[in-house]
Amino acid sequence: MKTSIIGYPRVGSLRELKFASEKYFKGAVSEEELKNTAAQLRKENLLIQKENDIDFIPSNDFSFYDNVLDTAVLFGIVPKRYTELKLSELDAYFAMAHGYQGEKGDVKALAMKKWFNTNYHYIVPEAGDDTVIKLVGDKPFNEYNEAKALGVDTVPAVIGPFTLLKLTKYTGSKKAWDFAKEAVKAYAELIEKFDSLGAKWLQLAEPYLVFDLSKDDIALFENIYSEILKAKGGVKILLQTYFGDVRDCYDNLTALDFDGIGLDFVEGRKTLSLVKEKGFPKDKILFAGLINGKNIWRNNYAKTLGIIDEIKDVCGEIVLNTSCSLLHVPYTLKNETKLGENYTKYFAFAEEKLTELKEIKKIAASSDETAEYSANKALFATDRNATDESVKARVAGIKDEDFTRLPAFAEREKIQKARFALPLFPTTTIGSFPQTADVKANRSAFRKGNITEAEYKAFNKNKIAECVKLQEEIGLDVLVHGEYERNDMVEYFGENLNGYLFTEKAWVQSYGTRCVKPPIVWGDVSRAKPITVEWSTYAQSCTDKPLKGMLTGPVTILNWSFPREDISLKECAYQIALAIRDEVLDLEANGIKIIQVDEAALREKLPLRRSDWESEYLDWAIPAFRLVHSGVKAETQIHTHMCYSEFTDIIPAIDSMDADVITFEASRSDLQILDSLKENNFRTEVGPGVYDIHSPRIPSVEEIKTALSKMLEKLPKEKLWANPDCGLKTRGTEETVPSLKNLVEATKQLRSERQ
Ligand code: GLN
Ligand code: ZN
Repeated sequence: MKTSIIGYPRVGSLRELKFASEKYFKGAVSEEELKNTAAQLRKENLLIQKENDIDFIPSNDFSFYDNVLDTAVLFGIVPKRYTELKLSELDAYFAMAHGYQGEKGDVKALAMKKWFNTNYHYIVPEAGDDTVIKLVGDKPFNEYNEAKALGVDTVPAVIGPFTLLKLTKYTGSKKAWDFAKEAVKAYAELIEKFDSLGAKWLQLAEPYLVFDLSKDDIALFENIYSEILKAKGGVKILLQTYFGDVRDCYDNLTALDFDGIGLDFVEGRKTLSLVKEKGFPKDKILFAGLINGKNIWRNNYAKTLGIIDEIKDVCGEIVLNTSCSLLHVPYTLKNETKLGENYTKYFAFAEEKLTELKEIKKIAASSDETAEYSANKALFATDRNATDESVKARVAGIKDEDFTRLPAFAEREKIQKARFALPLFPTTTIGSFPQTADVKANRSAFRKGNITEAEYKAFNKNKIAECVKLQEEIGLDVLVHGEYERNDMVEYFGENLNGYLFTEKAWVQSYGTRCVKPPIVWGDVSRAKPITVEWSTYAQSCTDKPLKGMLTGPVTILNWSFPREDISLKECAYQIALAIRDEVLDLEANGIKIIQVDEAALREKLPLRRSDWESEYLDWAIPAFRLVHSGVKAETQIHTHMCYSEFTDIIPAIDSMDADVITFEASRSDLQILDSLKENNFRTEVGPGVYDIHSPRIPSVEEIKTALSKMLEKLPKEKLWANPDCGLKTRGTEETVPSLKNLVEATKQLRSERQ
């Protein structure tokens, strides 16, 4: 059995590409130096794959920023405003990725969007009526040749035409179909060029096929490929899918003249049954995605080989593959010095996944039980000691009524209006205040053991007192403590929960040069001791105004972690929910009257297929949130906050989270969401952010008044809150204070006009 991977991480195991790129942006290294770093990283990747005896090694999986952008550039999908800058090729590319501001002009970046259901973000190609799709770039050819010169005959990997056309944003009257002919010609040329270079295989990635597809989508796909495949010549075509199953187009896909088809057996819930029931053409190679490209747990060899056994009679040749590109996992366990073997032996990052592929290959070829197989079997047979019976019992004991807060919303709203007696359009913030250098220095000094806990706390309390005073001076109605103790809204809670593990260097690319280091859910999760109570109660003691306690919700904590695979996401979310529930109840018992539970990433893991939304996700995600706050008294006000306003389509689900107030990001989406709130009779009080905190601009009083007035066209005035659209931690004090002052002033003027 041969082995294959779809793609490898590219920022470097110590984020070398990130640092080199950032230096290049600052002018500290030359283009050549940056390119050398990149070439070095590509070489290391190739060698490590070769060492592990991978048969189908990809090339062109490298990118200076993003593969979708690379593909757009390869085929000339570049808006004029970027070519007009007359920059070097590389700088024009970076201008599209993150904008350009300098002597040659001022152009914003292309839009960036979440890549399917991952935390990776791609650059959205933009095509206008003047765009002509044609093969103009040479990156894939250069990288193919480069690898060949290093002795590796690779499989070039390129995003396929269907996915490319579906993800492109069309600014004129021409749409995907109108570009189909040009795309066919361009991809045919790509194949011919690879043929002339001697490539044996070409991987065309079509992840868009795992969405719910319309008849028109399928027609577009078939139309394009039936033409392109005529150009095949000597190059074999691997049509690669990932992030789900291809239930809508399995027959169409297998009927086309591909030489190999890559299917995802990890996330594709129906993949196995599709292959078993419908069979798989014996003249094609099935690239079976059985090694999880998204999570960090070891592969269970017996299970993987069992699946191959189940399908081998209905298939021809099977190649063992990853479920998606390894881009979504960290590089290597070698850099983790602190975790210890007792933990790391259960994990496989990208490099260790290569070893797994090698081992499974060996096992499949041997008639006797190999040492690798026995070791893997033993690993899965031993208890990880990750179970906490009391947590299990607590989750098992959850009753239906634990998901319902009483009294119902309308009655609570009355009680809370009387209790807080807030003015119309109450003003508040989302929680964090600027994380200035002194705040970070204090945290880091404490971490390194350079200051005592008492010193660390005294500094933060001082900051909190100042922050509260500042908010009083500005005239905000509901105050916050500022979140000075937090590095990150998920890591902070993870560090304070039993069952979580942290890595040192396990970075995963989120977009461009930005990487994240998700914590790992190792075992059953519970709260060891109160986490935020000391900070919040101290802050409340500094003021007579209501002060919001600040927590991160269970769904966000889970979505930004590597989850367990031995229990369901639902079970894990409920465990975290119970831990956060304990914190909510402690805050309430200690005099905190308003508690915000952030669900910034609630939408993140929404299944790709709409048909799976309820059954696969919302049916536990929303209850998990309800479990967090159902135990509080009627007069305690529960807020929540969500980051990306792309939730127009799940408004009813959000209302059923049953919070009292929700704040969210709306300023960048032209307030479109308001219509949908109105249509759905949204009952939760709302604070659609009135200004964009992602920009250093200070919004004027007029501008904020206009935004609020627009909101009042769609929302009853009793329901409207006034706040920025997200936390202020990345902003400076010099922008924050005037912005908030303008916010308060705008609401004052509006109140007197609308009383
Ligand atoms: N309370 C958090 C903050 O203010 C929320 C951050 C977020 O939504 N991403 O920073
Ligand atoms: Zn936010």
